[in-house]
Amino acid sequence: MDALEILSDLENVFPYFQPIFSADEQSVIAYEVLGRYESEGNIISLGNFFQDDQIPDEYKYDVDLLLVKMALNQALTLDEDISIFLNRNADLLMYRHGEPFLQELLAFEKKGLRLDRIVLEISDRNYAGDLDQFDHLLQYYRTYGIKIAIARIDSESNYFERIGQLKPDILKINLQALKSTSTGINFHDVLFTFSLLARKIGSTLLFENIEMSYQLQFAWKNGGRYYQGFYLHPPVREFIERNLLKERLKEKFHDFISYEKKKLEAVYTTAETFQAKVQEIVLKNRNGTFQDLFQALIKELDQIAFRMYVCDEDGFQKSANIFKETTGWINQAQYIQKNWSWRPYFLENIIKMRNERKGILSDLYSDIETGETIRTFSFPISGNEYLFIDIAYQYLFQHDQLL
Ligand code: CA
Repeated sequence: MDALEILSDLENVFPYFQPIFSADEQSVIAYEVLGRYESEGNIISLGNFFQDDQIPDEYKYDVDLLLVKMALNQALTLDEDISIFLNRNADLLMYRHGEPFLQELLAFEKKGLRLDRIVLEISDRNYAGDLDQFDHLLQYYRTYGIKIAIARIDSESNYFERIGQLKPDILKINLQALKSTSTGINFHDVLFTFSLLARKIGSTLLFENIEMSYQLQFAWKNGGRYYQGFYLHPPVREFIERNLLKERLKEKFHDFISYEKKKLEAVYTTAETFQAKVQEIVLKNRNGTFQDLFQALIKELDQIAFRMYVCDEDGFQKSANIFKETTGWINQAQYIQKNWSWRPYFLENIIKMRNERKGILSDLYSDIETGETIRTFSFPISGNEYLFIDIAYQYLFQHDQLL
């Protein structure tokens, strides 16, 4: 297909709509507009046309404008709480300072389409122009109620900076990278970070390219409010009944929820078991040295733990590390007086333990020294002494509901 064929045959250009579903309502809350062209009975995507650098911007703009007009005309028939996502790369957005496009949108506002239903799906990759002007234009659009979604999370070095600057209404995350399970764990951690970031800056997470059940589960588990992908619905020429998937999504959520609750129960039960075990040992060794305490703990936890130490409530280490090497447990005196208060959740956990007089089993994280996925059980020994027991990956692996 070449550009001239399309440009001379605009009556065969039309929009497709891919429904976007919400977790809270389990129904369609938006459609993303996608360009299509029909040639000799085949319907092809206009994605390549818009990404082709050889095609002058004004041609792309004309084809895009046609698509936007057709899509928004069709959108006039939708329920008024359904949004429309329009793809804009930076060049398209900046075309003639974005003014003709805004005039187009304002014309539709007069026909009854509120502009707060428009979501501009932005990518600024490879943009050679002035980013300040670009950001300025986005802020100007927002004064009309138009929303901003940022797509693509490639490993662009300035991604976090851009997200921080733009504070988009929606962060769109592509789940294509989740296809191979081998890359799963790291990608999982990266996406967890996105869910924290989104929460901090007040953005909603939309997961796209959901093609299988486990990807939907992943999106649900990682704070995804909106979902899009072939597993839910392919792009179509006409809008669909908005509650089409309601029952199916409810069933899915029911499965995800029971699975997650089972895992959380397992973590809770394990924490209770550790609590009982450790409390008994600590009580018995109340008058002994840290070494006495560690020896008693090793007897019980040799197959469970790989590192133990005691800190005060400010995070200064009061004991040596006792660490399990392949040959057996060793003493690492160089850790005495190191401080751990800078670690995430450290002080929160101290305060929690102090007030509840109870131990805490941490979330999963990678140990800085061994690189293994572990959990830590921490326990308040006394007013100013807190015991930390790092649980070995091997143990978690054998009790896989803890992973
Ligand atoms: Ca898109």
